[in-house]
Amino acid sequence: MKAQTWHGGAHFTLDDIPDPKPSPDYVVVAIDTTGICGTDVHVTQGLFPKDPPQILGHESSGIIVEVGDGVSKDRIGQRVCVNHPASCYECWYCRNWSLCRCENQPMISNGYFAQYAAVASRSAVEIPETLDLETAALTEPAACCLSGVEMLDIPYRATGLVIGAGIMGLFTAVFLKSHGVETLVVSEPVKIRREMAKQFGADILHDPNDVPLSEVVADVTDNGRGFSVTAEAVGKPELVAACVNSTKPRGQTLMIGVSPEGSPLPVDLYDMHYREIKLIGAFRQGDVTHRVPRELAKLNLENVISGCYPLADLPEAITASAKGLGIKFAIKPNR
Ligand SMILES: [Zn+2]
Ligand SMILES: [Zn+2]
Repeated sequence: MKAQTWHGGAHFTLDDIPDPKPSPDYVVVAIDTTGICGTDVHVTQGLFPKDPPQILGHESSGIIVEVGDGVSKDRIGQRVCVNHPASCYECWYCRNWSLCRCENQPMISNGYFAQYAAVASRSAVEIPETLDLETAALTEPAACCLSGVEMLDIPYRATGLVIGAGIMGLFTAVFLKSHGVETLVVSEPVKIRREMAKQFGADILHDPNDVPLSEVVADVTDNGRGFSVTAEAVGKPELVAACVNSTKPRGQTLMIGVSPEGSPLPVDLYDMHYREIKLIGAFRQGDVTHRVPRELAKLNLENVISGCYPLADLPEAITASAKGLGIKFAIKPNR
């Protein structure tokens, strides 16, 4: 099969490698769609730690084409999302942290920027009939946002702010609304993303190049004292700080974006202490993945995938993602 191997920096090679074979309790999935994640972009920019060489790609969907011993042949032909973290439910991480942090997670044969992958049968989750495979590839980013939003305690008549309307900001917005945020502001400088936020439930759109955020806080929130909940979905420490500074006393700030490793938080800790702000990190899918395909089937996700590229054009797709030229780009390895 064909696969894109990452060699560090922005260097990839399109290679012929052996087709994966299913071990016992594994299935082989023909990959339909693999989303380009912000993390993939950060990896190629040296902003997220990973060791080359390896095949990247973790937001995927496809069709089961082969099953190993111990898996029912009925699974062949099933439409699945394959980013599901399988969990043992027994290790310290499963019991004390979250299911997606399981230390006994089964290995996958390779990342999903490839035509096929062998994954544990329990990691390949059947999707509802009403969900198309392309959209199902959004399960992982949506799960990360739903897991984060469910860590918040959202009060009655809450106001909310999301900074960043990439795919993570958009899913954070839609789940904040479905979890009770009454008035939601989404702040994003890129027009196409900002306008997409309407489709995801934003009540007020903010262009930071046009009006300072402090004016929005003054206009929208009660006495200008800040939002009940704020979420940073970009991965820039100064924007996490902007969220903290826009949060009302005893409010909460959610960190959805991945800030570079080693970055300090540029906020006045006295102010954070005095105003009793709660800062919550949110990384990965928590325990919610199995619910997400059904949630996705309920949303209007038209035009969220801005472009699909063949496997050979992965570097171009990563460049397009890095430039913020759309909402979400994806690879179709078998096209
Ligand atoms: Zn991802
Ligand atoms: Zn475990």
